Amino acid sequence: MKCKCCHASFDEFVTESVCPICGFENIETLGEDEERVLIIADKYRDTILERIKAISIQAHKYVWNGKNGSFDAIETIELFDPKLSGKDYYCNTVYSKQKIHQVGIGMEQTIEINYSFAGSPKTAIVKLTPVQSSEPWSMSLEIDKNLRLNVMLGALCDNEDEVPPPQDRHVWAVVDLDLHA
Ligand SMILES: [Zn+2]
Repeated sequence: MKCKCCHASFDEFVTESVCPICGFENIETLGEDEERVLIIADKYRDTILERIKAISIQAHKYVWNGKNGSFDAIETIELFDPKLSGKDYYCNTVYSKQKIHQVGIGMEQTIEINYSFAGSPKTAIVKLTPVQSSEPWSMSLEIDKNLRLNVMLGALCDNEDEVPPPQDRHVWAVVDLDLHA
């Protein structure tokens, strides 16, 4: 069965028509009933998206400490507005408030994403290997039609008038969000 809310395919004999990803209870319908169920699925999806809150990715600002011969973290920067809910990210690319300096090109970076669902704190880990670009990096987030979080890092375009950079100037990962309280 295919979920009418998040479009995931699942085995209805195991879960009795309740989608294991988003929890929507799918029922088989025909004709007018089908439209009715799709409206219910849309409303359910809105509720799910509103329960996703405070998506947070932190970046750290470092200065070189000559005395110790090491980089010291002096500031932690929140890249995304914690007041946004999942609804703001649904089928909409949200760019980080700050550009990121290019460090560790070609080295795998571990990115921790914190968020809450229905008040329960959740963490997702993403590994991305950044590529060289002529611009400072942006990070961007978008929740797609399958309610999965797309994380993109690289020279991204937040201005529609600009020509988008070639695909090979950014990397991205798709994260399964935990949509269970
Ligand atoms: Zn679903």
